[in-house]
Amino acid sequence: AMVTRIGPSPTGFVHLGNLYNAMIGERLAHQSGGTFYLRVEDTDAKREVPGAVELVLSAMDYFGIHFDEGADANGDRGNYGPYRQRQRKEIYQCFAKELVRRGLAYPCFCTEERLAEMRSEQMANKENFGYYGKWALCRDLSFEEIKERIAAGESYVLRFRSEGNIENTVELNDGIRGILHLQENYQDFVLLKSDGIPTYHFAHVVDDHLMRTTHVVRGEEWLSTAPMHLQLFDTFGWIRPVYCHTPVLMKMDGETKRKLSKRKDPELGLDYYRREGYVPEAVREYLMTVLNSNFEEWRSENPELPMEEFPFSLEKMSNSGALFDMMKFDNVSQETLLRLPASEIYEKMAAWLSEYDPEFAKLFTRDRAFSERIIDVGRSGNRPRKDLTNWKQARQFLSFYFGETFAMEDPFPERVSQEDRKEILARYLAGYDASDDNSAWFEKIRQITGDMGYAVKPKDYKKNPEQYKGSITDVSNVIRVAVVGRTNSPDLWEICQIIGEEAMKERIRAAM
Ligand code: GLU
Repeated sequence: AMVTRIGPSPTGFVHLGNLYNAMIGERLAHQSGGTFYLRVEDTDAKREVPGAVELVLSAMDYFGIHFDEGADANGDRGNYGPYRQRQRKEIYQCFAKELVRRGLAYPCFCTEERLAEMRSEQMANKENFGYYGKWALCRDLSFEEIKERIAAGESYVLRFRSEGNIENTVELNDGIRGILHLQENYQDFVLLKSDGIPTYHFAHVVDDHLMRTTHVVRGEEWLSTAPMHLQLFDTFGWIRPVYCHTPVLMKMDGETKRKLSKRKDPELGLDYYRREGYVPEAVREYLMTVLNSNFEEWRSENPELPMEEFPFSLEKMSNSGALFDMMKFDNVSQETLLRLPASEIYEKMAAWLSEYDPEFAKLFTRDRAFSERIIDVGRSGNRPRKDLTNWKQARQFLSFYFGETFAMEDPFPERVSQEDRKEILARYLAGYDASDDNSAWFEKIRQITGDMGYAVKPKDYKKNPEQYKGSITDVSNVIRVAVVGRTNSPDLWEICQIIGEEAMKERIRAAM
């Protein structure tokens, strides 16, 4: 059984990476009968914003991620807490003391200015040694000196005394990338900051050990510092977890591929999808498609199964920059919506509308049966319409069904003269019989078309445009514009059935 976790930092920004790392961790744990937990990594108080923990929790909940234990809105759940790092200060200090006792950690009094100097000197020589070798001024201070400086109230951090060698590589058997050879860590990195709060490097190692984590699923930005983490596990004699570094999401920016950025790409933030009214399932489906090479095939073979049944395996994860393509995502969203029953769409759309478009929500929720019916128009059959992408389109797709929001948006087809428009509409009205089925109804339109000198088959008109005034498409578009307000719409007969004879006739009279 695997034990996995996510360790979000409460920065107020919850992004796609948080979601897919959670999805992967959740699958690994639950497929193996293990445990998935959430740990709040709040050691960087400077980056924290109020309410950020709640934001992470609600985003995870919204996207259907469930934790077996960890930090929770009402405190903590589980036997390995506390699950918020700032509440674990004494635990880290206890392990830090052990390292000091073993001579593997030491206080460092170097000031910010001195470290900045060191960095610029190194940079001038194009070196990047960090706190190492001749630069590691505090590495060998005498016990007396240390005591004096601490007693004098000098501020200090605690550094790891690295025995790593700049000539060496270490082996990392990454759960996604396989065996990697990385530069061994030789720098004396910081374990505890001057306020006694641990760095990420130290905190997560201690926690992942104590919380019996077997697999650490995290973004590839941590790959370069993984040797420090291995070194700490080894130093303590703890079993290393399997590190699984997930690829960073890329996008095409013109011709170039680049990382999604918080500043430039709103679609990196999870709140974007909520605001735009995408269903969370679609986001998860698409992420799985992008990250896992055999998900798409599985999905097309199993269109009805819930994602939870996908046999997820780390080996099928892609290990280099995965391309996030908004157009493909929209496609997946459309497919996802097509799989949802009208009743579910109704509920989700109503919830979204009441938050983001309360005015239209009022109309939409007036008669649930009616709204479920309009949702279903054109969705069944062998060539279902799949253009509904998100709830933001609700108004655009559905407004013409309601008298209050109906509007003439498109002009009448130009090929049809004023007189002909009137005549088409008059004949249509005169011949309309609510009990006609689709084909009887259509037959009448063909009749009008032929009688008035338009081609009943559009291709006849294409071949001999001088013989006709136009084609049946023009004739039905006249009716369409009158009844629907636009030329692009689902099946006209079905729309007439739904809005009802009275409303339909009223619209036609008004148009005339
Ligand atoms: N707190 C880290 C982050 O937000 C978590 C990395 C990890 O999962 O270990 O990036």
